[in-house]
Amino acid sequence: MLFSDSQPDPLRTALPWQHPFSELGAAFSISAPPTPLPQPYWVAQSDLVAQLLHLPSGWQRSAHWLEAMTGNTALENSQAQASVYSGHQFGVWAGQLGDGRAILLGQLHGWEVQLKGAGRTPFSRMGDGRAVLRSSIREFLACEAMHGLQIPTTRALCVTGSLAPVQRETAETAAVLCRSAPSFLRFGHFEHFSYGGTAQSLQTLADYVIERYYPACQLAPGDAGNRYAALLAAVTQASARLVAQWQAVGFCHGVLNTDNMSMLGLTLDYGPFQFLDGFDPGHICNHSDPQGRYAYDQQPGVVRWNLYCLGQALLPLIGSTELALQALQPFESEFSAAYRQAMADKLGADSASPGLDPLLADLLALLARERVDYPIFWRRLSHWARQQAPDDRSVHDLFLDTTGIDAWLGAYVQALGPGDWGQRSQRMLAKNPKYVLRNHVAERAIQAAREGDFAVLSQVLRVLETPYQEHPEAESLADFPPDWAAQIQVSCSS
Ligand code: AMP
Ligand code: MG
Repeated sequence: MLFSDSQPDPLRTALPWQHPFSELGAAFSISAPPTPLPQPYWVAQSDLVAQLLHLPSGWQRSAHWLEAMTGNTALENSQAQASVYSGHQFGVWAGQLGDGRAILLGQLHGWEVQLKGAGRTPFSRMGDGRAVLRSSIREFLACEAMHGLQIPTTRALCVTGSLAPVQRETAETAAVLCRSAPSFLRFGHFEHFSYGGTAQSLQTLADYVIERYYPACQLAPGDAGNRYAALLAAVTQASARLVAQWQAVGFCHGVLNTDNMSMLGLTLDYGPFQFLDGFDPGHICNHSDPQGRYAYDQQPGVVRWNLYCLGQALLPLIGSTELALQALQPFESEFSAAYRQAMADKLGADSASPGLDPLLADLLALLARERVDYPIFWRRLSHWARQQAPDDRSVHDLFLDTTGIDAWLGAYVQALGPGDWGQRSQRMLAKNPKYVLRNHVAERAIQAAREGDFAVLSQVLRVLETPYQEHPEAESLADFPPDWAAQIQVSCSS
């Protein structure tokens, strides 16, 4: 169809881009035009995220949007910029890190839009600025799966692919992920300006975050403390709640460096992440982390460590170590309360109930001893709770030590008391997902996509958007992992 001046092509009309971050100035971000990729093709798209961004209808089938989402053509009024940050990697100060392969196009309706893998930026160091199909699909699905689980996360609009080769451990092909969040600012941005910038630049960045994302931290004259200590306290609270949600759902991030920690308490930068299959508290999902610094059960402590790095970076603004420590101090109580609430919800229990802690400790020990499948256990318990029938062996059959689990089930029913177990079961089914993005589920979508079949990916996305629903047609996505899943290796290289 041809469009005249009086009838502009709706897919090409200018969107209401805003650029508050790039308006902060050249100290914070610089121009970084994407580098085109040959013969792009669509891999995945999220309608939910398109709605958030108010994209014009038909974008999914538009050649113009395909080129724009690959970085081959610019969307009118967007401004390609890369921001600068530093960080601690694996506990060691690593200096300037990024952003080496995410290009910010601007903000639409309050959502920043980035292209990840669209080529080198001035901060790419030795990297090629590219992302591969495998890791882009994993990040796309993880963003939307996490949102489906109601856990704070960056979002993902789409993935496009190209046959352009990209060398990782093996030869792979290129892809570009378009992702979105109210802000992609990281702890590492503050570390960068604290150790390498001027006092003024650090303050400019902190004021920007407070005014836009933490307005409640703008203390009134006469209030105790200061706005920067209040910011640290607010980020401490958001991060403690986030990691509590990860622990409850069995999510391992895999690379919790300070540059992967969101200032908004969002799950950010999905690389070698994994949702637990069998419950193993010491599980290490990142092939590049042999020491297990980022093992599942280390995550709360590591998030706390990262918050101390943020506190250190903000110290010149906070002005007093005592105030900074006060702001960090609620981490433990916030984490414990949020974790306790999340686990009580999974059990269908009241978080105030005094018997909850021993009940939970006993259960986690039983699950760990036999590496019982974590999502399947909770889903089966949710169904079992409806009648607690002695001939319902669905939970019992997950264990070799059946005496142990039978005793626990007895203690569980007794601790929770009579009540309405039908309603309790319903509540539990709304807290214990049937579908999580296990490695083998992502792998199935990746393998099919490599062969040009994107239907599996679409189905996985649809199911993970509503993971508490039954979706009988997709039952196999909720299965135990197949034997080959143990061979899947994910590392920092993506
Ligand atoms: P990550 O370990 O993925 O969080 O990456 C750490 C930093 O390295 C980030 O700033 C990335 O932007 C950058 N980076 C990772 N991979 C590449 C790449 N292929 N090319 C350029 N920069 C990269
Ligand atoms: Mg990163």
